[in-house]
Amino acid sequence: MFKSQTYEKGRAWIEVDEECLMQNVKELCKQMPPGCKLMPVLKANAYGHGAVLLARELNAMKIYSFCVATVLEGVELRRHHIKGEILILGYTHPQQFPLLIRYKLTQTVIDLNYAHKLNNYGKRVKVHLKIDTGMHRLGERSVNIESLCSIFKCKNLVIVGAYTHLCADSTTTSQDMAFTKAQEKAFFDAIAKLKERGFICPAIHLQASYGILNYPAIRGDYARIGIALYGYLSTRADAERKDFKLHPILALKARVVLVRDLFVGESVGYDLAYIAPRDMKIATLAIGYADGIPRSLSCGNGRVLINGDEAPIIGRICMDQMMVDVSNVKNPQSGQIAVIIGKSGEAEITIYDIAQQTGTITNEVLSRLGNRLNRIVV
Ligand SMILES: *Cc1c(COP(=O)(O)O)cnc(C)c1O
Repeated sequence: MFKSQTYEKGRAWIEVDEECLMQNVKELCKQMPPGCKLMPVLKANAYGHGAVLLARELNAMKIYSFCVATVLEGVELRRHHIKGEILILGYTHPQQFPLLIRYKLTQTVIDLNYAHKLNNYGKRVKVHLKIDTGMHRLGERSVNIESLCSIFKCKNLVIVGAYTHLCADSTTTSQDMAFTKAQEKAFFDAIAKLKERGFICPAIHLQASYGILNYPAIRGDYARIGIALYGYLSTRADAERKDFKLHPILALKARVVLVRDLFVGESVGYDLAYIAPRDMKIATLAIGYADGIPRSLSCGNGRVLINGDEAPIIGRICMDQMMVDVSNVKNPQSGQIAVIIGKSGEAEITIYDIAQQTGTITNEVLSRLGNRLNRIVV
């Protein structure tokens, strides 16, 4: 639908697979409880994929509710004419309250004190009420019914939703399951007590990606889905555990700018971190750590694919470039495409490989992908 004809694949870029995105949307909707709507989480530039690009695709699929982390992320979507409700999950500073009105954004009320501040701004603003049920990050405590009622009494706050965040839903150990059940109960108890007092929450939501996967029976009007929408879970082990049909939508590629000789005893890059053990061919790629390639993949820890062949990263990854050993690449040429994440011929490097090599979760690797990368729909 929004396939780009004009963007060059000049330097380094991300390809977002529209078909896979549609399949993920379908699969997630199938798993969600009846009546529950998908609320894609587009924070951190849609986990690196490109928030505007993703939001346009999702609008075209008739999805009209989104989450972002910050007010400026919401503003960016509106400036690109994204339609629907945009809920800001995080804190918005009072200096930025005018943006909520101007761009028709929905703010999370993070506690009673914040409700008063937002109410005192003096303009009617749409909000979702955050209820803390055990994560202890944001939200008014679920047991503080008086405070929750006081938030409802704030005249300028138009409460259109209430939600909590599950913080132990990614495993199914008995301890985590008991914790999650307690969170669910605390949330619904609070909602029921508010109702007794005459305060109705029009829409409620608890689940994120792991909530849908591990607790599909939890009721909700929305599911705030981030990582799973992009076709991943946080770890390879989680992905293998589930027979969910998720399709990774992202590929990360960079141009081979130079293929050159490196003679025995010569060094590559900063700090002379790699010394050629023999005469060899190396390639310089137009991508570096400023683009989100973890620098810890330097010196043989990571690899790329060129024409389906593996090329280990040698020396230290630079800010804008990196060098790879193309000794095992058939006919390496400048102008070829190096695949950092994705398929090349028969071979594939997944985000799980990179997350594992760098000791983190897929969410972190994705969300750090840099702004300099072109993002294209394929
Ligand atoms: C990031 C976030 C989500 C999305 O989480 P995923 O695990 O990526 O689906 C949902 N809700 C809140 C409050 C978040 O901060």
